[in-house]
Amino acid sequence: MAVRAIDYTKCNDCGKCASICPMDVYQKVGTLCFISCKDDCMTCFLCEIECPTDAIFVGPERGHEVVLPY
Ligand code: SF4
Ligand code: SF4
Repeated sequence: MAVRAIDYTKCNDCGKCASICPMDVYQKVGTLCFISCKDDCMTCFLCEIECPTDAIFVGPERGHEVVLPY
């Protein structure tokens, strides 16, 4: 699976998801971040973990095994 949704009732437009995603899944237009390349998601959970308002939901199943470089 992959990143599934942003809950815009929680999102505070901080832009962290767009800056942190290693696969550039997010696109930022003005202050709004949205999921633009869902198929590129490697299900690393980084955006879900780092989102300060818990607005992002990433599917629990891993599509690929991923080893982060840290
Ligand atoms: S990291 Fe979370 S709060 Fe910040 S822009 Fe992305 S979805 Fe919104
Ligand atoms: S789970 Fe990882 S690859 Fe997928 S959108 Fe979030 S940060 Fe990007």
